[in-house]
Amino acid sequence: MKFSLLSLFALLLILISCKDSPNNPNAIVVDSDYKTPFELGNGNQTTTYQDCIAFYQQLANDFSTVTIEEIGKTDIGLPLHVIHYSNSSINWGSLNENKIKILINNGIHPGESDGIDATMMLVRDLATGKMKVEDNVIFSTIAIYNVGGSLNRNTGTRTNQNGPESYGFRGNARNYDLNRDFIKADTRNTRAFAQIYHKIKPDIFIDNHVSNGADYQYTLTHLFTQHNRIGSATGSYIHNTFQPALEQALKNRSLDITPYVNVYNQSPDKGFSQFVDYPRYSTGYTALWNTIGFMVETHMLKPYNDRVLGTKAIMEEVIHIGSSNVEAIKKVRQENFTAFQAASYYPINFEVDESYADTLDFKGYEAIENVSELTGNKLMTYDRDQPFTRKTPFYTYMKATDSIRIPEYYVVPQGQWEVIELMRLNNIIMKPLEKDSTMTVGKYTMNKFNTAPSAYEGHYPHSNVKVQEKTRKVRFRESDILIPTAQPGIKYILETLEPAAPDSFFKWNYFDTILQQKEGYSAYVFEATARKMLEENESLRKRFDSMKRADRKFANSNRAQLSWLHDRSDNHEDAYLTYPIYKLN
Ligand SMILES: [Zn+2]
Repeated sequence: MKFSLLSLFALLLILISCKDSPNNPNAIVVDSDYKTPFELGNGNQTTTYQDCIAFYQQLANDFSTVTIEEIGKTDIGLPLHVIHYSNSSINWGSLNENKIKILINNGIHPGESDGIDATMMLVRDLATGKMKVEDNVIFSTIAIYNVGGSLNRNTGTRTNQNGPESYGFRGNARNYDLNRDFIKADTRNTRAFAQIYHKIKPDIFIDNHVSNGADYQYTLTHLFTQHNRIGSATGSYIHNTFQPALEQALKNRSLDITPYVNVYNQSPDKGFSQFVDYPRYSTGYTALWNTIGFMVETHMLKPYNDRVLGTKAIMEEVIHIGSSNVEAIKKVRQENFTAFQAASYYPINFEVDESYADTLDFKGYEAIENVSELTGNKLMTYDRDQPFTRKTPFYTYMKATDSIRIPEYYVVPQGQWEVIELMRLNNIIMKPLEKDSTMTVGKYTMNKFNTAPSAYEGHYPHSNVKVQEKTRKVRFRESDILIPTAQPGIKYILETLEPAAPDSFFKWNYFDTILQQKEGYSAYVFEATARKMLEENESLRKRFDSMKRADRKFANSNRAQLSWLHDRSDNHEDAYLTYPIYKLN
């Protein structure tokens, strides 16, 4: 009797402690005025993951205008929480053509926590009516995107950063930088993001960060998706209308903002070029569907309180601009969709066009060449007692250097199921072949590429890819996949499947198995075949002889000569260096 009472007591204790566990956001008491942990703290503190989720759950419980949903699963095993605000209930089945849809991403780099705190306050202000918006606004946010990194809380890893006191870590549960993962999709976080993005189909996307790099006067910087790369109609709208409107709106609130200061180890007043957000980055990915995207990059050395309030102000102004320009924004996005689907060629590589620059009235600090007392070597520092405003060139224009012909279809053999899965995840329309068929297709041979000598984001990526396209008859099987390019996801298809594109699947090592021959041969066995080939093929013999005369190394090597002939023999492996996805028409 005594024993079982004790057991019962122990069980009760376990139950109680489970209920109060910090992993259970339901157990967390949210402030009755909906003040956030940031507001309740000393201004230099950010919410924990658990407090953040509990806060949004409370808002969703108490206000019919706020909804919260769990989507997917991240690498740490927990789902993403997405919160929506709208004056009336949202019909996700509709295109919501008369509504501006805004998606905010926070905590992709959890140490850069400004956006997490700012968005909690903003959603609260929307829910309580402190900030009033039109009925045409659908505002959505991912509470904290890098859940694993956020739970890995520490006080030191943001070496450059002036607060908050403690924060999460940049690497996710598997130490990936999620803001390089949007195309290669190694993480579950990325796969969950794709679900969220294609559900909401946002017109505007903001990813909140904190900068690294130079010192200057601004607390706020913006890093817009590159306007030439996103394509004409949306790009010129971003550059000529949206960005100036945001800058003006912030100026009216006495908040200065500058384009992201993309310089390292030199003073920005010499001029700088725009950071290029390839599709591996969040805004580069959302640009593939013509979403107006930008990253907020607050300045790392400014007080945390100012950074959080500045980030909140940017989002508030974006809501106003979006809400007042729904028609214009929908129009330029639609024009982009239409133009890309009608095009015959697609630019895949760009370079900065230095013949044009915008001129900034850049508010910097004088750069001083000092000598480090520690190392005895030169060290550049900034003197905050010497602020300046200086005309500074900003190289924000890019021009295409390389383009590819857009086929009517790509043909993806069903064996490439990883690729097919990613296409499906990204809403790409696909048609299976109804029967075995031989088709005349464009086939790439990998002519040249370099491979990174050290690891980058879980890969040894390839670069400087050169391919040669030949027309060949290829036999395909029933249920191999046809991907028509005339569809809204055309840019995703081209950027991933064209090997020379900057973030192609090839560059991210998706097809490394084609870079190796599977079989070998013994010289004494193949030599007889090689001799026969030369006897029977006069032109082959001539080329072979001239190679021998011209190249002493070749002439002195059995292996080189036999390999040259083996590559031209029936024993050659077709798969070797053949890109396994084909272009039809
Ligand atoms: Zn960041």
